[in-house]
Amino acid sequence: MINNSLITLNENAVENNIAFLKKKLGDKVKISAVVKANAYGHGIEQIVPLFEKYGIDHYSVFYYSEAIRVFDSLSKPATIMVMGWLCEESVRGAIARGIEFFVFNIERLNFAIKYAKELNSKAKIHIEAETGMNRSGLNADELKNAITKIKENADCIEIVGFCTHLAGAESISNHVRIQSQLKKYNKMLVTLGANGLIPKYRHVANSAAAFVYPKARMDLVRIGIMLYGFWSSSEVYVQYINHKNNKINPLKRILGWNSQIMAIKKVKSGEFIGYGISYLAQTDIITALVPIGYSFGYSRSLSNKGRVLIGGQRCSVIGVVNMNMIIVDISHVDNAKVGDEVVLIGKQNDLEIKVSAFSEISNELNYEILAHLSESIVRTVIKQ
Ligand SMILES: *Cc1c(COP(=O)(O)O)cnc(C)c1O
Repeated sequence: MINNSLITLNENAVENNIAFLKKKLGDKVKISAVVKANAYGHGIEQIVPLFEKYGIDHYSVFYYSEAIRVFDSLSKPATIMVMGWLCEESVRGAIARGIEFFVFNIERLNFAIKYAKELNSKAKIHIEAETGMNRSGLNADELKNAITKIKENADCIEIVGFCTHLAGAESISNHVRIQSQLKKYNKMLVTLGANGLIPKYRHVANSAAAFVYPKARMDLVRIGIMLYGFWSSSEVYVQYINHKNNKINPLKRILGWNSQIMAIKKVKSGEFIGYGISYLAQTDIITALVPIGYSFGYSRSLSNKGRVLIGGQRCSVIGVVNMNMIIVDISHVDNAKVGDEVVLIGKQNDLEIKVSAFSEISNELNYEILAHLSESIVRTVIKQ
């Protein structure tokens, strides 16, 4: 391996997950693939062509810069939707490229009108409603104000969507709050309709909501984590699988991450290993040095806790995770040598290191661990 580590993306898993989601959600519900945070660490430039190949033609991002990366990765026309940040200048760029964006305050609506006029074009917007998450969105009064403006500028604004975001559909403890959000959303939708404004897409659901609250699917769902093969929470998974005779997880993880042994060393009992005194060898041990560390997204919180696979065995991370290295105990691995594969995430023979195992150890969410995987790691597509 030329690189210090490599991320593999399993094409068969992509095909599997998209087919599963399409089957479950049916023809009437559009899937928007959420590819923010570098496609949840998988790599926008690698994931978009794969998603495209298996029938995705709608993408959601947070930043305009991500929208441009998606735009440049497409080989056929698709819809791109910016859910979050774009500066005033980017509103102009978005309209010029036909990129859609959320409007969650009057300022952004004003920019949309201004630049659509200037470009002699139409801004394609999704009106985001504030329904109780209290994060972003127009409240009922602001919506009325926006409706007036939109009607006055009907030639340069196209309302493609009316949306909101639910405050934690992956946990049953938020049930009451979410029901109240859906109620508020529907009320505001009526206001919109009464003014003759009928959006093509009503959308409120992420992965968890699409499965826990089927009513929330509406016309479009914004699916992130499930496309990559993860359930939003164990609660959502248990709820799904409980009703099934077949208890096999229908989702497959796309991402694997591996490295190789850089050096091997024998350490005598009683010696400290690595920085400081966080690891003391209790017996004579053999260690392997692996050239990845927290600068690549291997979290420092896995110090003395993480596990990797070498020679088909689980091996423990010993001492603190360094910027560019970890040290692991390979005393129990037969014939390990420099250059041998080290699996950080994924399978080796019949063992597997899951992202969820990371998160249980380090208290980070799957989302967070994936999003931290450095963009500098080379990504390659495999079939398995
Ligand atoms: C990230 C995000 C999603 C996708 O969430 P998942 O849990 O990954 O499916 C959907 N909608 C919005 C507004 C988001 O920010």
